[in-house]
Amino acid sequence: MRRAQTPLTSSGYSVSDEQVYAIQLNQSPFYAESGGQVADMGRIFNDEFEVSVHDVQKIDDAIIHYGTMQRGLISSQSVTCEIDLSRRGDIARNHTATHLLHKALRSVLGEHVQQKGSLVHPDYMRFDFTHFQALSRAEWDIVESIVNKAIRDNMPVGTRIQSIADAKAEGAMALFGEKYADEVRVISIESYSKELCGGTHAKATGDLGLFKIVSEGSVAAGIRRIEAMSGRAALDYVNSQQESLARIAGILACPVNMVEQKMESQKARIVELEAEMKKLQAERSFALIDSMLESVISYPDFQLLIRELPEGTDLKAFGDLLRSKLTTQVAVIFCPKADKLSILVNVGQNLAGRFHAGKIVSAIAAMMGGKGVEDLIPPWLVVTIQVTFLRL
Ligand SMILES: [Zn+2]
Repeated sequence: MRRAQTPLTSSGYSVSDEQVYAIQLNQSPFYAESGGQVADMGRIFNDEFEVSVHDVQKIDDAIIHYGTMQRGLISSQSVTCEIDLSRRGDIARNHTATHLLHKALRSVLGEHVQQKGSLVHPDYMRFDFTHFQALSRAEWDIVESIVNKAIRDNMPVGTRIQSIADAKAEGAMALFGEKYADEVRVISIESYSKELCGGTHAKATGDLGLFKIVSEGSVAAGIRRIEAMSGRAALDYVNSQQESLARIAGILACPVNMVEQKMESQKARIVELEAEMKKLQAERSFALIDSMLESVISYPDFQLLIRELPEGTDLKAFGDLLRSKLTTQVAVIFCPKADKLSILVNVGQNLAGRFHAGKIVSAIAAMMGGKGVEDLIPPWLVVTIQVTFLRL
């Protein structure tokens, strides 16, 4: 969706291995990147040569066109400039969308909303603004519907050059902290919005067709960012969402309007299966504990059980079951997990006060090179030991 801008350096422009020409003309219809709006693309040509223009930058007061040679050699005769108008139309629609969005945000969230940056691209627009919390889903929907209502109202977008004092007196929105010339360009959308702006715009709001917010998030403390689309890109976005929903419906083998219901029932089924699986695991663990208790090491008044469980065993759940079965036994259970080794010690209820599970764990960990439950990475041991201690 997004095309990255090739970085401009002071020494020139680099685009793969192709040689890039920087062309300056005595006049140009190309829009040079500024005010967050990307540059026009197109071509400069005559009978002698053709350069396809990838980028246009304003450097001091000169408009520099960057492009690659398609044929011939540059001659100094007059040239024809051709702008990719379909691309410019997409950019213009997205730029008008930023003005509609700006006003909608101020009316929904409050007058504290100030534009803190924007990017106007043919495929999308990005708008940064001051606000201290995420937009709720309801605010998102209201903002979107205000902009779409403004689009349906098909208001003409007017351009006027006037003095900065008059523009401000008429309530035109300006970027805070930005320095403006005495004469400014004002973009007015009837009584809806008025902004100081040098960008290209749609002729009327109806040209935008559709507006969709794609994402909203934080970029810095107190600064939110909205990414949105209008016109062709917005329609493509809605279509791709619909296609994705149709694919999900295909996977779930149900009609699109049943997807939500089907997902809910699948989710409930997963919960049911997980509970069933837990029950089966518990039964298996009980059987395992019973067989383990048949092969203990016997001492005069207690028994010692030492076992290793397969990797991935839920040691906590196993420990809970084991504890309910132990009376005069001390159980030491090892369980590997990746590069760690968990040690579980359980002391039977009749031995409480005689053996201390925590001390046994520490002693085993120390014998294996660890020192306790914390820093257990000795220099000579490959495995990292992690000690799990279940209190009686
Ligand atoms: Zn603007």
